Amino acid sequence: MVPGRRRDAQAVAEEERVVLTALMSNIFDLTGTTAIVTGGNRGIGLGMAEGLAGAGAAVSIWGRSQERNEEAAARLRAHGGEVLAVTCDVADEEAVRHAFGETLEAFGKVDACFANAGVGAGSTRFEEMSTDEWRHVLGVNLDGVFFTLREAAAHMKQRGEGGSLVATASVAARLGMPRGEHYAATKAAVTGLIRSLAVEYGRHGIRANSVLPGWVVTEMSAPITKGERAGPVMLARTPAGRFGEPEDFAGIAVYLASPASAWHTGDEIVVDGGFSKT
Ligand code: NAP
Repeated sequence: MVPGRRRDAQAVAEEERVVLTALMSNIFDLTGTTAIVTGGNRGIGLGMAEGLAGAGAAVSIWGRSQERNEEAAARLRAHGGEVLAVTCDVADEEAVRHAFGETLEAFGKVDACFANAGVGAGSTRFEEMSTDEWRHVLGVNLDGVFFTLREAAAHMKQRGEGGSLVATASVAARLGMPRGEHYAATKAAVTGLIRSLAVEYGRHGIRANSVLPGWVVTEMSAPITKGERAGPVMLARTPAGRFGEPEDFAGIAVYLASPASAWHTGDEIVVDGGFSKT
């Protein structure tokens, strides 16, 4: 045994431990980064934005209601970081271009983009569904994601420093949704869009993932989660024993915006309390 060498090895191991601990404690730190969350003024989007702001990111939230945007922005500013509230209808191509430009002007860059804004299904029987209703849901849930992520992908590629593209889909992408065919179709389409983006943009260091929530207590899901008949049925099918809350999406948002997910791309991440496994 060479005592000097043994001490060296111990010192190296200790140094590695210190570096690893520092890395692990900073791996979810978003200080100095920026993120967009469409539909960030309430519900799941606000839950995501809270997580991102809490981890140190500057956040740009988009929604159609300026009043709600401002209320949410005030709440997010309590985390101490920069927050921008942008009035934008994501189904409007020009409005999205403008909102993305406004964000870039304020923050100078976009590291993560969460295309989360969406509308629910109106519970219309399929054979009674009007073309207008069909197109409205596709316009927000699919065109809106396309318009938003197209701006983000172009910016991230041109900037050359990678990035994270995220879309909020739904377990409806995988499960049958009676009276919600338009909604389910958009969510399945979004997972295909994201998978393809992961392949096309991987070589630019840009990753793309979709998040598939189950039943989460928001305005959109109220007819089910607060419904006297449907609520208990859906709850009984949820192994976690409760519906999701918007804050259940803070962690996944931070993970997907942070270096912790550097090698995670092209995935459909189900966050549903186990609902889709029953
Ligand atoms: P929510 O509470 O109704 O919130 C929807 C958000 O999207 C709001 O911020 C709303 O703001 C925004 N929005 C709606 N239409 C928009 C448009 N045309 N342009 C820009 N923003 C728009 O709904 P949520 O439950 O949080 O849903 C968020 C996402 O999760 C959606 O994509 C939804 O499909 C998905 N999801 C939800 C559940 C659930 O159980 N809640 C389950 C699976 C998936 P404004 O009204 O101000 O525009």
